[in-house]
Amino acid sequence: MSAMRGILQQLCPRCRTGKIFRKSVWLFPRMYERCPACGLKFEREDGYFLGAMYIGYGLGVGAIAVLAALVWELLKWPLLKSVVGGIVLFLPLAPVLTWMARVLWIYMDQAIDPDRS
Ligand SMILES: [Zn+2]
Repeated sequence: MSAMRGILQQLCPRCRTGKIFRKSVWLFPRMYERCPACGLKFEREDGYFLGAMYIGYGLGVGAIAVLAALVWELLKWPLLKSVVGGIVLFLPLAPVLTWMARVLWIYMDQAIDPDRS
């Protein structure tokens, strides 16, 4: 399985069969501490996901820019109003981008410094 498919399906970067997230009763998926299939520890140390926040920030700014451009083009609103519209449209996407940023961070980290334990 390719890395891109593993990222989109949120599977472990090492074995690509175990899931990274489990569903919770609150509809917000919680992460497994370790891969259910191969035992890879996802959060390698305290503060590990700080790097994922940078990825999430980049994804968020990009998504807001695209949405604001769509509002600006389709509704012909002034630029500032279009940016505010883009931010409002982005809000429901924020949790999904946060989870995807974590998956991307785990994949990047495993590509650069694989956990061989
Ligand atoms: Zn695994």
